Parts: sequence; structure tokens; C-alpha cells
Amino acid sequence: MLNHKIFEIVSQTAEELNLRAFVIGGYVRDLYLGRPSKDIDIVVEGKGIELALATAKKIGNPKVSIFKSFGTAAFNYKGLDVEFVGARKESYNRNSRKPIVENGSLKDDQDRRDFTINALALSLQKDSYGELIDPFDGLKDLKEKRIITPLNPDVTYSDDPLRMMRAIRFSAQLNFKIENESFESIKRNAERLKIVSVERTMVEFNKIMMCPLPSEGIKLLLEAKLLEQFFPEMVKLKGIKEKNGQKHKDNFYHTLQVVDNICNNTNNLWLRWAALLHDIAKPATQRFDKKSGWTFHGHEALGAKWVPKIFKRLKLPLDSKMKYVQKLVNLHLRPIVLSQEIVTDSAVRRLLFDAGEDIDDLMTLCEADITSKNKQKVNKYLNNFKTVREKLKDVEERDNLRNFQPPVDGKEIIEAFDLEPSPLIGNIKEAIKEAILEGDIPNERKAAIKFMEKKGQEFGLTLVKKIN
Ligand code: ATP
Repeated sequence: MLNHKIFEIVSQTAEELNLRAFVIGGYVRDLYLGRPSKDIDIVVEGKGIELALATAKKIGNPKVSIFKSFGTAAFNYKGLDVEFVGARKESYNRNSRKPIVENGSLKDDQDRRDFTINALALSLQKDSYGELIDPFDGLKDLKEKRIITPLNPDVTYSDDPLRMMRAIRFSAQLNFKIENESFESIKRNAERLKIVSVERTMVEFNKIMMCPLPSEGIKLLLEAKLLEQFFPEMVKLKGIKEKNGQKHKDNFYHTLQVVDNICNNTNNLWLRWAALLHDIAKPATQRFDKKSGWTFHGHEALGAKWVPKIFKRLKLPLDSKMKYVQKLVNLHLRPIVLSQEIVTDSAVRRLLFDAGEDIDDLMTLCEADITSKNKQKVNKYLNNFKTVREKLKDVEERDNLRNFQPPVDGKEIIEAFDLEPSPLIGNIKEAIKEAILEGDIPNERKAAIKFMEKKGQEFGLTLVKKIN
């Protein structure tokens, strides 16, 4: 199995240094699963750094990154990330997921692994090269698609609660079942997630979001009571309220369906996030009245307002990615309005202007938002959106509004009317934009200048310089 040249070189070097070395963890698991992996972890009984440096010498001295305090060293070799670490024995105290570490044997190192499928090791010793060392029957669990901890799950999860997130992530990624006792233990220990940094939690959550069906993982997070630890707004989506015999759909399961749907059409994590958050403010805006039944007026605007708060708390990026999610949440109902039969060009133009470069992603979100079980209805709505896409394309071709840049800028307005800086400049700019969106003038510089001159005069200004 270990037919890459690097393994032979490590093996030879380990023998020369009289060290015992093994390939361990994810690489071995993925080898048996037939999933190609570029991260190789090598565990050494003794000094990992020494073996890394000696190996690097033999393969043309790649740059070795050494982390002395962790006893690890890593280099890149022909596109592979190879990391060496001394075998460790760990013990934990209750308030931290950072263990007390001592040097240990391979078995000690396997004991501290999270799951049996992640504790598989392959020997790099000359006399047993490539032999599997599998003290917990991990290979059987791999074949039977089972996630199970090597030791008592209460100990494993309580020691490092991140492992609960990892269990669910692996379950969703590999389509494996978390063994019952293990899952019960996660439920018991869920609260301990609070000692894990939110960044770490979100690394696992985002890996779940990148699965083909994130709903599988998110449902488990809910059931295990982990979701409520870091994402209470999601949990609040759950439930169906009934009044006067009228029910609304369960927004939690609807949201999961939208996320799964969008995953068929995009690998963009942030578009998947927009799907996850599109209805997040529905519980806060739900009302019932006899005439209209259940309504959620303004949930898109309120949801958009929540996006920065949620991103900040979850330590997600607050840059353009957050703005993108916020924009999509805010606009997610707009294309529905455009699907009505009679729609003015100006409404289409306004959406193009507001969505800008993200108009196609917005349409992808809207299409994913169709979750009716009635096939006929789904087809009808999809057809409606097809028409909207055509309308958008048509107006776009005529008006080129996707990346709207004001055809006349503030400086030119100042020059034309010899103005001091004043709100008037903004007003004229806004009037030009409105005229373009309303279709009163085309999105062209010449027409915009003419319109500016007229508008200025309406405001009582005197034109002192002709702009070209
Ligand atoms: P992936 O490559 O899909 O992210 P992985 O588990 O292979 O998953 P790492 O997160 O780099 O990748 O972990 C490498 C190995 O280290 C794992 O296979 C497991 O043996 C061990 N490991 C990682 N995190 C933990 C943890 N929190 N507790 C115990 N063992 C862990």
C-alpha cells in the first residue's frame, strides 16, 4: 500500500537512526477508503524532528518547518505535506482541551486518537513494512461504516469536546453512522463544547457545509444538542405553529432542504451560507391574522441585519464574504416579484442594480428555495424563474447595469456648476441614477450629462462649464 517513494526513504532513514516510525491517521484511513490524500502524518517513537531533518537531507533539503514546543516538523515533498511527530501520551484536565503531553509509544498515540478509523497505523519498519497496526479494529469499522471512539466515549468527548463536532463531520462526509453509545455520549457531553474555540467549531461546521448533503450533519448537530451551543438562531427555526387550523411549514427543515438543493448547483461555501441564513429571521417576524394567515413580513431585511452579528459571533470573515451573504439574504424575495406576468423594465433594472455581480447567485438561491413536494408546482415556479432570468438578460444586454458606475461623478458636477461641496451634489447624482433605473434616460454618459444640466437648472444652479 505504501508505494510512494517518500515512505521508503523515511523507512530507510528511521532504520539508520534506530527509530520506529509509522504512517498514521487520516492518510491511512483515506488509503483504505480509496480517497486520495495529500497530508501524511508520520508518528515516531522518539524524536520526530530528528527523523524529519534527516529525511529532508536525503530528498534535496526542502524547507522544514519546525514547531519545537509541539515536537513536530513538516515539509512539502512533490505536492505532499509530510508531518513528523513524536508519539505522545496525553492526559487532560477538565477546563481545557489542551492536554498534558508526555513521550509515549505507538499504542499510547493510538489511544489518544478520536475514532478507531483514525487510529490505523502502517509500519515503516524494514521487517514489517506496510503492516497494519489496528488495535481497535478500525478497519472493521471502516468497512461497516461506523464512527466509534477507541476508548470510553465519555472520556474521549469530555477530554476534547471538538471530537463531537468531528464525529458528526465524519459521519456527514463519509456517510458513516455514529455508533449509538457514542451518540448518546455526545448528547451527554454537548455542553462541554463551550471550552472549544468557536474558530475550531466552525472549521468542522464549514466542512459539514461543504458535504453533498449538509442537512445530514446539521440534523445530527440538532439532535445531539450541539447546534444550540453555537447557533441558537438555527434551532429557533424549528417547529410548526398552528392557529385556526392553519399551519406554516417547519422553517428548520425547509432551510435544510434549501441548503441541500443549492449544493447541487454550487461549491461556493458562502452561497451555501446564504441558503442557510435566508430565512433566519422568520421566527422573529412571524405573525398570524385571520385574513392572511401566517406571515413573515420583513424577515429578509431583519435577517440581513443579523448577518454581521452572526458572522462576528461565529468568527466568520467580516469582509466581502459577509457582505455577499448579507446581500443575498436581503434580496432573496425580489426575483419572486419579478416572476409576475406584468413587470416593468424598471423593476428588473432595480434588481440588477441592487444585486450587481451577484445576480446569478441570487437566482441560484431563489431556485433552491423552491421546496414544494408538489412536482407540478416546482416546475411552475422553476419556469417562472426561467422567465425572470430571460427578463434580466434582456435588460442587462440593453442597459449594462450589472456593474453600475455613475456615468457622471461628483467632481464633474462640482465643476459644471462651480459648487462648494454640498448635499446638492449627492441629490443630482441620485437623480441621475433614478432616471437610469426608471428608464427615463439610457445608461450612457452623453444622456447623463444632458440630464445633469437640466436637473442642475431645476435646482436653480447656473451651468458654468460644459462637461464632455
Ligand atoms: P481531514 O483530513 O478530512 O480534515 P483528518 O482527521 O484526516 O481529517 P486532521 O484533522 O489533520 O485530518 O487529523 C489527522 C489525525 O489526527 C486524525 O486522523 C486523528 O487521528 C488525529 N486527530 C485530529 N484531531 C483530533 C482530535 N481532536 N482528537 C484526537 N485525535 C485527533
